[in-house]
Amino acid sequence: MRVLVSVDMEGIAGVSGPDDILHGRYNYDRFRRLMTEEANLAVAGAFQAGADTVVVNDSHDGMRNVMYEHLDERAELISGFNKQLCMVEGVDQADAAVFIGYHAWAGTAQATMDHTISGGQIHNWWLNGELVGESQINAAIAGQFGVPVVFVSGDDKLAQQIQATLPGTRTLVVKYALDGSVVRSRPLGEVRRLIREGVAEAVAARNAIPVKKVEGAATFRMEFKRSTHAEVACLLPMVQRIDPRTVEVTGRDVVEAWRLAFGAMRLGSTCDAG
Ligand SMILES: [Zn+2]
Repeated sequence: MRVLVSVDMEGIAGVSGPDDILHGRYNYDRFRRLMTEEANLAVAGAFQAGADTVVVNDSHDGMRNVMYEHLDERAELISGFNKQLCMVEGVDQADAAVFIGYHAWAGTAQATMDHTISGGQIHNWWLNGELVGESQINAAIAGQFGVPVVFVSGDDKLAQQIQATLPGTRTLVVKYALDGSVVRSRPLGEVRRLIREGVAEAVAARNAIPVKKVEGAATFRMEFKRSTHAEVACLLPMVQRIDPRTVEVTGRDVVEAWRLAFGAMRLGSTCDAG
């Protein structure tokens, strides 16, 4: 049994603002260590539940944050960027997926650094008409490979969104967001125990946890921050302009739609450089 652990950073316990999560900022080294520790707790829980292979995919900004030398020696690590499946690279070879350190979607009130994929370029993402965040997008990609997302950890606003959109997925609140950059974290001892126990229970229950299935063709709609982003994204003929800041792409399935959308987003973002 194979488990993929996708680890982002905004939702790690103790993380409150950009100084904690951006390369070169004064708190970054502390929190990349804690990010690695939360990954380790998930790895330990997965092995406790009977996993044979656990792969950790670094999913935060640049995707080179998890410290290999401090990672559980039994786990494989995927680091670096670009990756075809991005935050869930490796999920096509997994039996269950675990999301650690995740955050609420862009535009959520009192949520730790809420954004979706790109805080600098995009206000909103929709998948087949439903507002989505990274958890929902990644769950749909996992779903194409028949893989359930069994466990998600982060702040309380993320947990509310998971419960509303991914029924059956277990959630763990490691902190309460009082503002975009203020958190009340639970005691670290509790967090350490609950991630390990929660992942172990969720992986053991994987066959009873629903897979997020998106049947057939899928459409991603993206509302950019600026009309120029949309203008540049529309260089690709398969990108449709909906309004000055909003575009849409459709793929034969959700993974193809994701690749088109992500490519269009990356192309659109090049206008920031010029
Ligand atoms: Zn992140």
